[in-house]
Amino acid sequence: MGSASPSPFRYSTVRHVRRLKPGPFSKSRDYIDALAEEFYHSCVYCLMPDVFGGTFEVEHYRPESKFKDLRSEYSNLFYACRACNGRKGKKWFEPEPDGAYIVNPCQDAMGEHLWFEAKRAKPRSKAGKLTEETLRLNDPNSVKFRENVDLVIAEAWTKLVGLRKRRPKVVKAINAEKDAVRKRHLETALEALDGDVEKRVALLRQALGRQGHKV
Ligand SMILES: [Zn+2]
Repeated sequence: MGSASPSPFRYSTVRHVRRLKPGPFSKSRDYIDALAEEFYHSCVYCLMPDVFGGTFEVEHYRPESKFKDLRSEYSNLFYACRACNGRKGKKWFEPEPDGAYIVNPCQDAMGEHLWFEAKRAKPRSKAGKLTEETLRLNDPNSVKFRENVDLVIAEAWTKLVGLRKRRPKVVKAINAEKDAVRKRHLETALEALDGDVEKRVALLRQALGRQGHKV
């Protein structure tokens, strides 16, 4: 674990390979829990983690109005925030190589089409540009929200690094302590410290989406 805090706002450099095989269900909304897990509790388009609130939905990559057969097909379903899902809506652009279409995280490495700079999504391709524009990835509220998320993460991360550094010192003090009462106080302090660590690890794992393993 390095000292620079990680951010969920980093597009993957590899395409997503689905890990789960839920269902089959006849209603697409029954896939929501599996989709949340599949896509690390974050919107596939804007990467916002769901742990900070907001409504998350089942997104039909090929819109259900035009592709009725794919309505409950897991491979056509993504996890998306309400803003991205709503803005995409019924819009459809046939994916062509080097064309303008909505980026598909299971077919494209998102990072080849989009990247974040100062919490703003920047396009690297025609598909990235169309995605950024259609989903309005840089509306001021979203940018502000990303900044706040990163601040919360940075604070939890710094605190966690400090707690982990302190732990061996407390253990050493417990082992060296001869007085039973003082020893018990130190042990209580260690329990509290471990509880703090656990809380922050849980928050960071959820908040970092795809990069939760870095905690
Ligand atoms: Zn989104």
